[in-house]
Amino acid sequence: MTNTKLIQNCAVLRLKDDDSAVIEAGQDVLIRGDKIHNIRPTGEIDASTVDEIFPADGMVCLPGMINTHAHIPMVLFRGLAEDVSIARWFNDFIWPLESNLTEEDVYWGAQLALAEMIESGVTTVADHYFHMDQVAEAVQQAGSRALLGWATFSNQGYDVLQQTADFVSRWQNKADGRIHTIMAPHAPYTCDDAYLKAAAEHAKQLGVGIHIHASERLFQTESSLESRGMTPIQVLAETGILDVPTIIAHGCGIIQEDMPLLEQANHVGVAHAPKTYLKLGGDMTPIPMLKAAGIPVGLATDGAASNATLNLFEVMRLMTLMQKWIPSDSEQMPIGQALNIAFRGGAAVLGMGQSLGQIEEGFLADLMLVDLSGIHHQPVHNPAASLVFNVQPPDVKTVFCNGKVLMHDRELKTLDKGHIIQQVKKSMERLAKRVPEKRIQVYNP
Ligand SMILES: [Zn+2]
Repeated sequence: MTNTKLIQNCAVLRLKDDDSAVIEAGQDVLIRGDKIHNIRPTGEIDASTVDEIFPADGMVCLPGMINTHAHIPMVLFRGLAEDVSIARWFNDFIWPLESNLTEEDVYWGAQLALAEMIESGVTTVADHYFHMDQVAEAVQQAGSRALLGWATFSNQGYDVLQQTADFVSRWQNKADGRIHTIMAPHAPYTCDDAYLKAAAEHAKQLGVGIHIHASERLFQTESSLESRGMTPIQVLAETGILDVPTIIAHGCGIIQEDMPLLEQANHVGVAHAPKTYLKLGGDMTPIPMLKAAGIPVGLATDGAASNATLNLFEVMRLMTLMQKWIPSDSEQMPIGQALNIAFRGGAAVLGMGQSLGQIEEGFLADLMLVDLSGIHHQPVHNPAASLVFNVQPPDVKTVFCNGKVLMHDRELKTLDKGHIIQQVKKSMERLAKRVPEKRIQVYNP
């Protein structure tokens, strides 16, 4: 028998093709197996045969949030490289630390990150890191949904590229279909053209896409034009990357000349991580230009070493504020558009727009219940505005993914938070011994 769950008397966020958002009060949502089966006015669905009932008076039912670009185990480096230049951030901190991580460190880092994401309503993540078998195992345990890619650089050679392709085959469609995989060459400035071509060939043969950092800053576009007469997006087109579905992380240096290539591409989505850009002093993804060309944009955190948190409500808020601030125009990025980017945009970036990112019949049952009764929401004149500007993670009460409960009334159901925190602390103590120059201080209050 297929398990059924009924969310009773919630308000449902409905996202429309014209980028508007409507909140319909007094609705029941019936989950059957891993899908949303039915949405009806409260009382119309027969509750007597349902397996589990979730009363949701005063709650808004939203799709789960979709993090379109992250390096989730980097939660281990939260706060370790503050107030430094991007060059020092990489060379003096992140790369020496990452090269000393073990599989076990990555596993516990991934669990910590998944717990943080579930607590703030994130049910799907496109992750780009290494030791990805451990990340996949953590996702399997957490019950979340993920699109996983094993990052590679050309200086690691073609055997490593093949190993990342083997990872793709090993985990594709695993964990009840919650895990999907993708090739993940790091970036055009760390992978030469032959390596990018080989990655694209693997992706074609495996029937998967590519997740890559490209045009991260305007500076990268300028230096690529200067050194080789091509923008990073032109490099992606030349090397066949854009012949397969591609997630471009950041794209802050995308220029008008790149747009025809992106429009002709197989399928391109851009991951937007404004908090990281603000924190590291970068540029902003040109959202209006991408939207005008019909290129999907989704929200992203990048790693917590540059973003501090994995909270996409905060990212949505910063995106909205920056899109008003840049042109000095408060009419830009209206609430409905922000919500559409967060949910439908994120799903479209991952190529899952037909099954994820909306509360509609037949869509995957990845949902959260958000409580707007807190003082910081009162009085609620405009619940959609509350979702964009006021929600804090503790307002997210219950989270479902693939029809299963991952958190109920703030209690995590699949992960043991206390144990994870303990294991992460042990990992950091071990890492501190391995890393030169005492980069890590373990805080013991
Ligand atoms: Zn990144």
